[in-house]
Amino acid sequence: MVEAFAVASGKGGTGKTTSTLALGMALADDYDVTVVDADTGMANLLFHAGLADVDVTLHDLLITDSGADVSDAVYERYGMRVVPCGTGLGDFREADPARLRDVVADLAADTDVLLLDSPATLASRSAVLPVVLADRAVLVVQPTIPAISDALKVQEYATSYGTGVAGTLYNKVQDPEAVERVAEQSGKYFEGATLGSIPDDDAVRSARRAGEPLFAHAPDSDAAAAYRRAADAIDVREADAESVADRFRSAVVPEQP
Ligand code: ADP
Ligand code: MG
Repeated sequence: MVEAFAVASGKGGTGKTTSTLALGMALADDYDVTVVDADTGMANLLFHAGLADVDVTLHDLLITDSGADVSDAVYERYGMRVVPCGTGLGDFREADPARLRDVVADLAADTDVLLLDSPATLASRSAVLPVVLADRAVLVVQPTIPAISDALKVQEYATSYGTGVAGTLYNKVQDPEAVERVAEQSGKYFEGATLGSIPDDDAVRSARRAGEPLFAHAPDSDAAAAYRRAADAIDVREADAESVADRFRSAVVPEQP
């Protein structure tokens, strides 16, 4: 079985990468989890996961004739498989975004849950592909009007490509009561449920500085507890790995995002 989720937002800095690793580690208690840094233009998952020094990354898999095998870019870390992406601009330019389809299809053969850390924008083919490929999107939003409005654009885009919405995750929450009101209001427009509300927590910032995922750095923090509840709220669906892989391979890459 496999289900692929795009962890997306529309806005930068809302906590997609933090959330990808945190949800991944929480889901890894029950599932085989693979996380992929599909933000190939602004990759930073490697810095969150202590993988800044690795040789082979997703970029190598996306460059035609690099000779890299998918397994070369897969690192067993924190109870998950982690596929980081490099940060070189030259590699990004050389990379063929469409190859992500085959990479994701290969990874799908060997996992239960795939989490694609997705780019903030919808401005290029490489930026929209994770959302197009995923079964469902997890929308990571800060409880502000601009962030919610951008996430609604991502939802509209995702659903136009047949990608569902697993739910909305409010992050960097400073006032839990205010977010309840916001969630109630914006819940009318979001298709999925509210998965949770992650507090603004110094433990998250200090994990980032330490180059470790939150669950490795501060498993007893309030934010980690909130991520655990959010992961429990995701109802992972069963799908046949082979049909999912076929769908990835044959996905249409939008010419015009
Ligand atoms: P994105 O991938 O959406 O750009 P990141 O996950 O890299 O966002 O987070 C951006 C910054 O915000 C990082 O420095 C991260 O440590 C911080 N951050 C994310 N979530 C929280 C939180 N719940 N509390 C405090 N800081 C957070
Ligand atoms: Mg990120």
